[in-house]
Amino acid sequence: MTDEAERKMQFLFALRSRGVTNARVLQAMETIDRGRFIRHYFPDRAYEDMPLPIACGQTISQPSVVGLMTQALQVSQRDKVLEVGTGSGYQAAILSQLARRIYTVDRHMRLVREAREVFEALGLANITAFTADGSHGLPDQAPFDRIIVTAAAEDPPGPLLAQLKIGGIMVLPVGQSDAVQSLIRVTRTETGFEYDELRPVRFVPLVEGLGKDS
Ligand code: SAH
Repeated sequence: MTDEAERKMQFLFALRSRGVTNARVLQAMETIDRGRFIRHYFPDRAYEDMPLPIACGQTISQPSVVGLMTQALQVSQRDKVLEVGTGSGYQAAILSQLARRIYTVDRHMRLVREAREVFEALGLANITAFTADGSHGLPDQAPFDRIIVTAAAEDPPGPLLAQLKIGGIMVLPVGQSDAVQSLIRVTRTETGFEYDELRPVRFVPLVEGLGKDS
């Protein structure tokens, strides 16, 4: 086996052992090369199950957390998905394999520009990336079947709840930025919202307004 094939096998094994068991999610994570999203930072760490620094003081999430969040989102091929927090673009790329259309927003223009370059290079034509403050959602494209937030707010932002379809699911970390946060799943029903707590996580904070570079 080549080094590359062996690294990939270990990567998938680590994901499975941390609870990422959905076959479609694993297949998407096998297809999308995480190394493409970390640029020149730590290229030899791309297949380790750890978050890594990217530009603008942000991070690309730990692969097992990407897998568990994607799994919790229960995406189907017909879904229109909003991601708040493009970062490197890795999570959006995974979702692009599983859903019809992905809108992703980040408050840093540079991250959006770099992520778009990778989407284009990989031919991921069903992702649209915008520079925007995602705490307001994306009213022009709402409502969404699924929403994923990859930065932590104290509570689920009201505009995001409002932009979720009935029957829709949102997965996001909530809690104080410097304390332990919880990953939660919010399901919109005919009459309101149901909340499930999934696991403790640690994300960078959701910050209001655009980045200084934007
Ligand atoms: N999903 C990313 C990781 C995101 S890190 C990946 O797969 O690599 C969190 C991102 O959320 C950062 O890039 C940060 O700039 C962004 N962010 C924080 N607050 C935001 C806001 N209000 N609107 C949009 N993006 C925000």
